[in-house]
Amino acid sequence: MAIQWFPGHMAKARRQVQEKLKLVDFVIELVDARAPFSSQNPMLHQILNNKPKLVVLMKSDLADPLKTNQWLSHFKEQGLKAIAVDVKNNKDIKQVIKSANEVAKDKMDRLIRKGVRPRAPRAMIIGIPNVGKSTLINKLASKKVAKTGDRPGVTTAQQWIKVKKDFELLDTPGILWPKFNEEIIGYRLAAIGTIKDQILSLQDIAIFALEFLKENYPERLVERYQLDKTEKDMEKIFETIGRLRGTLESGGGVKNEKVAEIVLQDLRQGRLGPITLEDPNS
Ligand code: GDP
Repeated sequence: MAIQWFPGHMAKARRQVQEKLKLVDFVIELVDARAPFSSQNPMLHQILNNKPKLVVLMKSDLADPLKTNQWLSHFKEQGLKAIAVDVKNNKDIKQVIKSANEVAKDKMDRLIRKGVRPRAPRAMIIGIPNVGKSTLINKLASKKVAKTGDRPGVTTAQQWIKVKKDFELLDTPGILWPKFNEEIIGYRLAAIGTIKDQILSLQDIAIFALEFLKENYPERLVERYQLDKTEKDMEKIFETIGRLRGTLESGGGVKNEKVAEIVLQDLRQGRLGPITLEDPNS
């Protein structure tokens, strides 16, 4: 479950990441392919201090492939190596290993030129809660190592996982907070299930999601909920979905909270099709 970030949490998380950074040659930053801007940590760039970075757009199976390509070009334009990954796809996991080596190569060559004995590059995975850090670590380790779930306060002895002969990976990820300086960012992160539903109202998140879908993917709403494409009234939209799904109160009215839950579950689990909530240039 996503954790709530307070200034104390942030300072501690930052310190923990900075400690681990001393041990590695490069980092693998995970962002959510459905919201690659909002799911970045606002401070990472500064903390990294020019350490090489591979950006991985996780959950690409849930994201709009056209938008994912735009995001990949965007990162490339910024001089960053970026790839899109669906953790269930073995080809994608191989691509992570290959790209990680490419990102590390310059640094390792430099070390060798300075006289350091050749060794496997060392990496850590960094990202906001729920972005897929533990899942990816497990995949790369091809066995269960990292605990799924977020416990930024827990410190355990660091261990290195050998990812084939290619690189070594810290077995615990660096956990940092997302951007949430703007309200819309909070809504995007809530819509994809990255921040706790209790922080924003479930109905407000669902309204945000439905407005976005109406604007950007109207046909998905027609297909899944048999909505009239021209319907603008949010109350009517809730009503239609509620009646379709039979979420009725004893008096016959629609249970709005339940409708909100249904819409958000559908969105988060990809039942409304692949969706990306932000463009590189918006
Ligand atoms: P962490 O908090 O960053 O360690 O995130 P987890 O590894 O616990 O993953 C959070 C959720 O995202 C889990 O339910 C994973 O199964 C899911 N997840 C991770 N990667 C992917 C992916 O590529 N595609 C999809 N659809 N789900 C993923």
